[in-house]
Amino acid sequence: MPFSFFKRKPDTFDYEAVRSCCNCHHTFKGRYCNRCGEKILEPGERTFITFLNNLLNAFTFLDGKFVRSLKLVVLQPGQLSRNIAEGIRVPYMKLVSLFFVANFFYFLFPTFDSFNSSLYSQTNLMGQHSVKARGLVAKEVERRQLSMKEFEEKYQAQSTNLSKLLLIILVVALTLTNMVINYSKKNYFFDHLLISLEFYSYHLLINMLLLPVLAILLVKLANQVHWNWSEILEDRIFSWPISASVLYFLVKAQRRFYHQKWYWAIPKAIVLFYLFMETIKLYRIVLFYITIWTI
Ligand SMILES: [Zn+2]
Repeated sequence: MPFSFFKRKPDTFDYEAVRSCCNCHHTFKGRYCNRCGEKILEPGERTFITFLNNLLNAFTFLDGKFVRSLKLVVLQPGQLSRNIAEGIRVPYMKLVSLFFVANFFYFLFPTFDSFNSSLYSQTNLMGQHSVKARGLVAKEVERRQLSMKEFEEKYQAQSTNLSKLLLIILVVALTLTNMVINYSKKNYFFDHLLISLEFYSYHLLINMLLLPVLAILLVKLANQVHWNWSEILEDRIFSWPISASVLYFLVKAQRRFYHQKWYWAIPKAIVLFYLFMETIKLYRIVLFYITIWTI
């Protein structure tokens, strides 16, 4: 029965028995040595079926830490960071890992072009910046003697690589902003970092992946006959639901993570929201110039 692999097995381990650690010879009760952390190896644990089971568990996110962590991030923003900061860590994925998983999925399916800003949106959809960008691109294409298509391919590849790196800078920027906005709460740098990682994990998975996919499905359902990808992917169309979602997270996080009262949580979330939007704008402009300079 392959499905039995996915079920949690009842814990039959005897926690009262006194054991001696194979590694440091310390005697203790329980599954892990309380001096060096070595795990007790049970008789059945070296069988092939256990090996297979562990392998499957490592590869399936089903019923695992990922789903549990993501559920908390979506339903109770700020609670995962609060739990981790207070020392409840075993049931959840590390926030750094969650952030990198989100990062990975986002760049695997770049449904929504916001972080990995395409050459098209850089040169057409960003107002004053686009005018300058168009001029610079024309100059570069001529200088390098490339066709527009060749240049665009090079640009896109480099921009994708750089944007993954620059996303980390966005997390740090939000951490510092959180430190200033919530200065009165006397948290450590690490605490502000946790909530910032949680925010960007949420933003990538929900606002940049799930919402656009839902929106595309809705549009597809609505006009089954004729619809245009580039129009749907243009990042202005769905800015309202995404803004609402960002604000939802920020207000909830102020309440749950920073324990702010309502009358502080809302204005603080609005300030954070404004700074977040400005940071994204700046990020996209910086991404454009660094990409042009490094290809
Ligand atoms: Zn030990």
